Amino acid sequence: MKRIITRETICPKCKGEGRVYDMDGIVFTAGIGFLLQVITPETKDICPQCGGTGKVYYETIIENE
Ligand SMILES: [Zn+2]
Repeated sequence: MKRIITRETICPKCKGEGRVYDMDGIVFTAGIGFLLQVITPETKDICPQCGGTGKVYYETIIENE
């Protein structure tokens, strides 16, 4: 008999925020960005790991003999 346990964990990539900074974009536009004050939430991208939910789910299969 198998049981599947789903565990909910805070996404390690975005630390539960659901979005990650686009580091390449920030580095590239850092000087101009600070001058124009255009660093806003729009400079963040939705986390590819959790799809923006901030949570990831692990499925663990427990097999009882
Ligand atoms: Zn995430």
